[in-house]
Amino acid sequence: MGLLDRAGARLTSHPKEAEILIVNTCSFIDTAKQESIDTILEMAQHKASGSAKRLIVAGCLVERYRDEIRKSIPEVDAVVGTGELEAILEAAGLARPAAEASLSPFNILAGAARPGQESKSGTHKHAAESARAEGGGGFNPRTEPAEATRALAPESASRPEGDHREQQGRFSRDDWQGATHLLPTYLYDETTPRYLTTPKSSAYIKIAEGCDHPCSFCVIPNLRGKFRSRRFESVVAEAQQLVARGVREITLIGQDTTCYGEDLGLKDGLALLLDALAAIEGLRWLRFLYAYPNRITGKLLDTIARHENICKYLDVPLQHASPGLLKRMKRGAGADIFLKTLEKVRAAVPGIALRTSFIVGFPGESPRDFEILEEFIGAAKFDWLGVFNYSDEEGSGAFSLDAKVPKRTIEARKRRLMKLQQSISKRAKQQWVGRELVLLAEGESDETPLLWEGRTQFHAPEIDGKVYINDFGALETLEPGRFYRAEITEAHEYDVVARVLGGPL
Ligand code: SF4
Repeated sequence: MGLLDRAGARLTSHPKEAEILIVNTCSFIDTAKQESIDTILEMAQHKASGSAKRLIVAGCLVERYRDEIRKSIPEVDAVVGTGELEAILEAAGLARPAAEASLSPFNILAGAARPGQESKSGTHKHAAESARAEGGGGFNPRTEPAEATRALAPESASRPEGDHREQQGRFSRDDWQGATHLLPTYLYDETTPRYLTTPKSSAYIKIAEGCDHPCSFCVIPNLRGKFRSRRFESVVAEAQQLVARGVREITLIGQDTTCYGEDLGLKDGLALLLDALAAIEGLRWLRFLYAYPNRITGKLLDTIARHENICKYLDVPLQHASPGLLKRMKRGAGADIFLKTLEKVRAAVPGIALRTSFIVGFPGESPRDFEILEEFIGAAKFDWLGVFNYSDEEGSGAFSLDAKVPKRTIEARKRRLMKLQQSISKRAKQQWVGRELVLLAEGESDETPLLWEGRTQFHAPEIDGKVYINDFGALETLEPGRFYRAEITEAHEYDVVARVLGGPL
């Protein structure tokens, strides 16, 4: 979006207004693929009946079904995979601006979408309106920019772990007809233009791309390529630029943030990065998502504990708790080891909020495996928990495994876990009542204008429960994106209600 904006396109989220429609897709599980395809078809109808002249499909679905998309949906004019972001300009028929380096890399979208208004599984449609193809850059529907762009991408130094897994066929796309065999190597940097669609006080920064882990249910490495970190200085520079423009909350993301810097020769790279970012004046909340369980080092925990502006929050997807099943998943460990890890985390960072996610219905998941998972959830008492149904993905190691679990059993197991977590969460949220916390006000609730919504440091953007604000205290109104002191007055299963005590801070 930043590249399009800089090249002269005006961006709109209303397809009816657009001359160019762009669907950014996801394809790591069935439901995400379906949502992506439904959105492409919906946009194809707009193209047929409305003002749009061009339809572009971008993202992970392209990495997987590059040829098939174009064959099956003739309305699609161009495809842009995750490794060829800059080819979006060519696909849109826009010329690259001449003096790119001298322009500011940021443009904040006015009236940005509120959390929760976008797709749940990651499909986003955006449209470039009134694109002006200044200076040529004529559109050629036959152009396949992938090979050219990839050839220009800098070679990232891969980790020995990734090279080893590559030799074992971890990143192979041989089973995927119509996918290019070249893996993405693209990484953006601090000079890449961005167009923020998050509320103006919050931003995500991707610090690494790809993944070298062997998890047998997962095709993300096949889609996203080998693990590669962004340069340390580039991440710090981007964070400084964001804070200078009013961002107060930064969330670091990547498929596995806890590996950050290993390919750059850094030891404890994420801890070092957090140290550097926490020192940025004006940054109030800093967090990272998606820790790999055996990469949570003492140094990382010490860094979280030491900085007031690093949120006491850890998202560590565990996927399962049965040692036998985790072995089949090619992840290792099990309930006993995880409980020790959680104990270590809670001792090092008292009061930390823990989030995890599990997969139910992995091939061979026996009633006993499921029981172990239930017992573990009961003992671990996570603050936030997500449950995913196993999705059988061609190209994943688990695709060829036998003993597939019937869909009905998977659904029933998911419901059981959610019910269990509901009762754990309800009891835990009751303990919040009476607590004084700092709250980031986000704006009027989608459900009713009588309530506002906000978040504490224990809520990551867009994913965890909500804080409803029903009392502004002595204040007339609140300002979205500002921080306030508040007291929790009521608790529900996942959400809590708060009263403002003072601020803005
Ligand atoms: S660590 Fe996450 S992204 Fe990487 S292979 Fe495992 S599940 Fe997939």
